Amino acid sequence: MPAIATIVMHYQNMGFNMNAPAYRHILIIADIEGSSGCGSYRASSFLTQPWAHACAAMSRDVDAVVKVLFDAGVGRVTVKDFHRTGYNLLPEMIDRRAAVVCGYRQGPVPGLGDPDSADGVMMLGMHAAAGTSGFLAHTLTSRLASLKVNGRPLAEVELFAAVLAPFGLPAIFFSGCPVACTQARERIPGIHTFSIEKSMPPQALDADRWRRDLARSAAKAFSNRTTQPYGPKGPFHAVIAIRDGAKAAARMADRWGFDRTGARVRIDAPDMDTLYNRLIRLCYLPPLAERTLPFSLMLFNAIGWLGLLWVRRQLKAFPRD
Ligand SMILES: [Zn+2]
Repeated sequence: MPAIATIVMHYQNMGFNMNAPAYRHILIIADIEGSSGCGSYRASSFLTQPWAHACAAMSRDVDAVVKVLFDAGVGRVTVKDFHRTGYNLLPEMIDRRAAVVCGYRQGPVPGLGDPDSADGVMMLGMHAAAGTSGFLAHTLTSRLASLKVNGRPLAEVELFAAVLAPFGLPAIFFSGCPVACTQARERIPGIHTFSIEKSMPPQALDADRWRRDLARSAAKAFSNRTTQPYGPKGPFHAVIAIRDGAKAAARMADRWGFDRTGARVRIDAPDMDTLYNRLIRLCYLPPLAERTLPFSLMLFNAIGWLGLLWVRRQLKAFPRD
């Protein structure tokens, strides 16, 4: 807490008016690959011991940012866990003033749910686009070897910023590996970024110090009033290479009637919203699961919730700090 108070004083001394926050309600989308405790694919994978520790580190990262936002005068913070099952964050490790939302929602934004009154979005622990050189780079799922839209790799930062734009939310802050941060700045004009070095194992990182710097950077972004909601103009033409080859591509694409040649799938969409929905169908939803979506989501969320119970037991049995 004293460190956070010092950061707030620092920004007050620099002339930021902390009494007039630029945003009243911040939505944080939290992922694990670009967080401080994830050093491998295994550490991002469900029910592995490194994943349990990565969940704890991710929760601490989010907590550091949440605290600094409340100290900067934000009225509400909603944290949406958006990795795999959507159950990675341990709410008991995060400042109680924030609402932590685990699991997936049907809509209005598929997966994310209702952004409610949020007026700014921050993305923490993110990764670079599928087919690029970042740490554990992927878009939506690692089953996509590459995803190019209108000739350019599509990163999740662009996708999420675009589907939240109709709700008036600008994407103001992003953290992830250096490649992911570069992609975020290239695609979202005015977004602030803060990177994490992934060339060393998480144990070699001074996590407390990194978190303080992350929080300081997020506080600075909080006073950024210039970023606009991101609304790229369509139409969009996506070309997707499926990692496991033609058979896997047929299973994913043919059930929805998407245009496919071998392992290559093509999807056209008039806008980002439609593209997002079609990509979700390709990556996650057989038609039957979509037809029974409330039930499928309940089942999926229950598995995630049980996974988080397992994480808590692992952290008790094998504490690291
Ligand atoms: Zn993830």
